[in-house]
Amino acid sequence: MTKPKVFVTRRIPEEGLRLLEAACEVDVWPEDLPPSRDALLERVRGVEGILSMLTERIDAEVMDAAGPQLKVISNYAVGYDNVDIPAATARGIPVGHTPGVLTETTADFAFALLMAAARRLVEADAFVRAGRWKTWEPQRLLGVDIYGATLGLVGLGRIGRAVARRALGFGMRVLYYDPAVPSEDAPAGCSPAALDTLLRQADFISLHVPLTPQTRRLIDAAAFAKMKPTAVLVNTARGPVVDPQALYEALSSRRIFAAALDVTDPEPIPPDSPLLQLDNLVIAPHIGSASRATRGKMARIAAENLLAGLRGAPLLHRVGVAGD
Ligand code: NAP
Repeated sequence: MTKPKVFVTRRIPEEGLRLLEAACEVDVWPEDLPPSRDALLERVRGVEGILSMLTERIDAEVMDAAGPQLKVISNYAVGYDNVDIPAATARGIPVGHTPGVLTETTADFAFALLMAAARRLVEADAFVRAGRWKTWEPQRLLGVDIYGATLGLVGLGRIGRAVARRALGFGMRVLYYDPAVPSEDAPAGCSPAALDTLLRQADFISLHVPLTPQTRRLIDAAAFAKMKPTAVLVNTARGPVVDPQALYEALSSRRIFAAALDVTDPEPIPPDSPLLQLDNLVIAPHIGSASRATRGKMARIAAENLLAGLRGAPLLHRVGVAGD
C-alpha cells in the first residue's frame, strides 16, 4: 500500500518526525528559514497532510494548490491565526493544534519577561558587561516591585490561568479581563474587571488572548493612555494585539515604565526598528514554548493530529471543537 504524502514546513523534534516517517512519505522543508510562498505552493501539491508552523499562512490558495486529496492541516502551535479556518471548514479539512502541553512553559516565560522588565535585568547585564559597574550605588537601575503589585491578565484561558498561579505565589493581586470567564468560573484569587478598569489599575498587564479581529490592536494609543506611568506591559500572545507605533510612543515618552515582548508585529521585528533602540524594552524572538521537553510534546501531538486526520479519525486536538 502506498503511504500518504505529507509536507512538514520545518524540521520538528524527532518525537514527532519518527511517528510520521513510520506511516507517511514525509517531505520536510530542510532549511532554517521557512519556505517562500512559491516554494510552499509547490511543495504542498498532491499531499494529503500539511504540518505547518505559525510562520506559514495556510489559506485557500495553499489548500487549493495541495488539491482535493488534502485531508488534514496540523499546526505546530496552540494559536492558529495563520490558518484560514473558514476556508478549511468549507473544504471539509480539519485543522489540528497543540493546546495544553505548552501552557506551563509559556507561562514560565511570560513571568520571566515580567520580572526581567520590572527589575531591568537586561539593562543590568549590559551595564556590567560594558565595564560600568564601579561601585554599589543607592539609585542605580531602580525597578518596580512585583510583590504586592496588581497584575492585569487580558485573556484568562490556559496560559492566563497558569500565569495567575505564578503571580499569586509572588503575592500579587490578580485582575482579569475575559468575557468568556464569569467570576464564578475564575480561579480563587482572580477578580474580573472591565478592560478599562484593568488598564487603569494594573501595575503589570500581561496579554494571553488569541489573535482575532477583536483582539487585533486591542492595546492601542487609547489603551496606553489609561495605563499607570509605572506600568509594565508583557506580550507573549501575538504581536498584532499591540499597536507597535503606540507602544514605541508609550515607551519612548516614558508614558509607561517598560514592556517585554516575545512576539512582535511584524515578526521578525526589523533590525532597524526604533523599538530596538529603547532601554525600557525587553525582547525575545518568539520563544515562549521553547523548552526541549515542550517542543518535543508539541511535535508528538502535531504528528498525532496529522496521522488521525489522514485516517479520517477525530484529531486529538481539533480547532473549533469544544474543549480545545
Ligand atoms: P486559550 O486557553 O484559548 O485562552 C485564551 C482566552 O482568551 C480564552 O478564555 C478566550 O475566550 C479569551 N479571549 C478571546 N478573545 C478575547 C477578547 N477579545 N478579550 C478577552 N479575552 C478573550 O488559549 P491559551 O492556550 O491560553 O493561549 C493563548 C494565546 O497565547 C494563543 O492563542 C497564542 O496566540 C499565544 N501563545 C503564544 C506562545 C508563545 O510562544 N509566545 C505560546 C503559546 C501560546 P474564548 O474561549 O471565548 O475565545
